[in-house]
Amino acid sequence: MKDLTCKLLVIGGGPGGYVCAIRAGQLGVDTIIVEPKWLGGTCLNVGCIPSKALIHAADEFHAARGAQEGSPLGIQVDEARIDFTQTMAWKDGIVERLTTGVSGLLRKAKVRHVAGYARFVDGKTVDVDGPDGPMRVRAEAVVIATGAAPASLPNLPFGGKVISSTEALSLTQIPDKLAIVGGGYIGLEIGTAFAKFGSAVTVVEAEPSILPQYDARLRRPVEEALAGLGVRVMTGTRAKTEGRSGLIVEGPDGETEEIEADRILIAVGRKPNLESVAAEGLQLAMSGRYVTIDERCATSMRGVFAIGDITGEPMLAHRAMAQGELVAHVVAGGRDVWDKRAMPSICFTDPEIVTCGMDPEAAKNAGIEFDIGQFPFKANGRAMTMEADTGFVRIIARRSDQAIIGVQAVGRGVSELAAAFTVAIEMGACVEDLSAIVQAHPSLGEGLLEAALNISGEQIHS
Ligand code: FAD
Ligand code: NAD
Repeated sequence: MKDLTCKLLVIGGGPGGYVCAIRAGQLGVDTIIVEPKWLGGTCLNVGCIPSKALIHAADEFHAARGAQEGSPLGIQVDEARIDFTQTMAWKDGIVERLTTGVSGLLRKAKVRHVAGYARFVDGKTVDVDGPDGPMRVRAEAVVIATGAAPASLPNLPFGGKVISSTEALSLTQIPDKLAIVGGGYIGLEIGTAFAKFGSAVTVVEAEPSILPQYDARLRRPVEEALAGLGVRVMTGTRAKTEGRSGLIVEGPDGETEEIEADRILIAVGRKPNLESVAAEGLQLAMSGRYVTIDERCATSMRGVFAIGDITGEPMLAHRAMAQGELVAHVVAGGRDVWDKRAMPSICFTDPEIVTCGMDPEAAKNAGIEFDIGQFPFKANGRAMTMEADTGFVRIIARRSDQAIIGVQAVGRGVSELAAAFTVAIEMGACVEDLSAIVQAHPSLGEGLLEAALNISGEQIHS
């Protein structure tokens, strides 16, 4: 068995792990990253990037098909058709470019990459059995960044028609009928894309509404758009088993129904990859299924850190990356702690939803008195020119000092506003700041200015 030693061992090459390794390498820390399948992890290979590529392709195809029916813009399309093999090849090309880029960045930072699954021997040692033969890696500090995998349902195991997001993002044909279990991020992002590609989509959600983490006002434009796309949404409904021609579900009143489907996508959350790394021997403190970490991402075992999806919600690539960077600094001797005020999240439905900081319900639950400022995109010139005049920007300001504690928006193209919302909260902006900043015209960002002005009743355009 080959023996390797390093100062920092990063287990998992997803956004948490690879960012941690690159930053550690840049800081001069002797670093090894172990990744068995794909640098870039879930995010670059079977998550964020391929899903957003397919969403874009679906938007383009849907717009072309819309024009075929007649367009108020005067665009004429005789017959919109799609070569789905080419669509997938284009998506794969983007993934390839990004993952190759990660590999280059690791090399540039002098990080050694070992291919294979790492399995803990003790808190400072792992065995890796990969294509280069068995290896034992010893390190002063270890980061568990093994991410998460699609959760399955006991009565609907993956296989045949029943697929996870990974297979949904690599289909070779557009399914005629797609049933989706779970009306959360994955179900609705992928469901919207396939509805636009032409599939008949049914979404089955156990809770009384889709996207239950958002309030009704944010959800409504998405629900209306799904109805407009012909997506059937069955809330308060549970998936039971696979039937002869599709998926058997049980509705809120206990009645069962079989939904015809060529594919059944299970999108009911993700489960942490702990067994793959044989972490149970370390007896780390756990918070439910997830590894417990402190404000430096340290676990209950000295010298062992955990970052990303393995540490639980919110399971977001940018959170994993920020944690990875933090741990690199800690291992390099820094005194950094997790002190982020804002964690943006974007649901890439159509319209998109962006949230950052507290929504009204969270502020109420925290006992904070607050004011709300809102601006509708129907009064925004840029939104009109983009045929995107549904939705709004909403600001939550603490009443005592008018500090911005939350910003949310729903609308087409609002994902790009996430940066402004996050900067405002992270930098401690107050209503007066946002009201006094000049925003470019015409832009959706003017909604942020107008929502701030709305708190003091001084809005101009609504
Ligand atoms: P991962 O990216 O899961 O990487 C973990 C890595 O560890 C994997 O490469 C795995 O092969 C490796 N590994 C596992 N076991 C071992 C072992 N024993 N030894 C060595 N390596 C191991 N988030 C967003 O912020 N925005 C989005 O738009 C978004 N869209 C998504 C769409 C889909 C369809 C999915 C599934 C997820 C999406 N996410 C999105 C979530 C995002 O992908 C995850 O939050 C992110 O990838 C987590 O990063 P991570 O580094 O913790 O884990
Ligand atoms: P999710 O938690 O967003 O949604 C799962 C949905 O499935 C929930 O609404 C839940 O009520 C429902 N559900 C659970 N069991 C069910 C059952 N038996 N029958 C019917 N419905 C059921 O999870 P997801 O969509 O699988 O996404 C997993 C994670 O990936 C998310 O936590 C998210 O953080 C991340 N992600 C993020 C993005 C993004 O940032 N744009 C995109 C995709 C995924």
